[in-house]
Amino acid sequence: MAAQMIDGKALGAQVRESLRTRIAASGRNVRLDAVLVGDDRSAAIYAQNQAKNCAEAGIEYHLHTLPATSGYDEVAGRVLLMNSEESVRAIMVHVPLPAGIDAERVQSLIAAEKDVEGVNPANIGNVVYGRRSLVPCTALAALEMIESTGITLRGSRCVVVGASNIVGKPIAVLLMRSEATVISANKFTVALDALTRSADVVIAAAGVPALVKRDWIRPGAVVIDVGINRIVRSDGKSVTVGDVDPAVAEVAGWMSPVPGGVGPMTVAMLLRNVVEAALR
Ligand code: NAD
Repeated sequence: MAAQMIDGKALGAQVRESLRTRIAASGRNVRLDAVLVGDDRSAAIYAQNQAKNCAEAGIEYHLHTLPATSGYDEVAGRVLLMNSEESVRAIMVHVPLPAGIDAERVQSLIAAEKDVEGVNPANIGNVVYGRRSLVPCTALAALEMIESTGITLRGSRCVVVGASNIVGKPIAVLLMRSEATVISANKFTVALDALTRSADVVIAAAGVPALVKRDWIRPGAVVIDVGINRIVRSDGKSVTVGDVDPAVAEVAGWMSPVPGGVGPMTVAMLLRNVVEAALR
């Protein structure tokens, strides 16, 4: 039987609707302040989409643009100024930053309680401690999508393929917090297919097109595909594919598609973090 698809667009739309209601009920203004440095095209398109997504959820969007000639001091100075402003409650910095500016260093300056992408190490630490915090959005998206299937995570066996600081590790920690048994795999993991075959839940976040194959998955398992990879198909067309081979849908019980899965849900989780930060 074919897997049921976990529709990230539909789940994301539900989240946006509930945020609209929550904002209206609060009677307060909710706003996201984003910093865009330089003229990177992909960052500018992302910022444009973000403005649209915010509008749909009833969130104001302030974009602070800085010229491409800005150095670390100017960008850091802008973030510190925003930290100090009472009216600014939710901050994010678009990446990539111009060459020579260390994005992680800039992101770690964002006040933890305003850091809606969860990129300040303090927020990642709080995830480990299980404290109330702003959790990295893609990790939140993956967890929400797993939970939407109704699976009981406590006692389940989960394999997270990929262990980056911003995606794989926080997903693994969130699953541990749900009292699942978690295996964190990376590019040096031996016999990965045997590990994933034993799992109730597989999360693929490696950035390798179609890495997870049909025979890596136990029938009925939940498979979440975080990967976003641009490839050129044999017909010359450039397309976006995930880390999971589409044939996995023939055996999995539930599967998230790419595109239309974790991507749109990640956007929704960012908006939810904005509302959390603003209404705290
Ligand atoms: P990364 O390059 O920082 O980390 C990749 C991780 O995967 C590393 O831990 C590496 O050891 C592991 N890995 C690489 N090859 C592997 C293999 N063959 N077997 C097992 N593990 C392997 O990447 P990232 O930033 O964590 O992103 C991972 C993927 O998720 C990318 O495709 C990225 O585009 C996508 N992504 C999606 C969203 C979203 O919103 N859907 C957000 C962020 C990243």
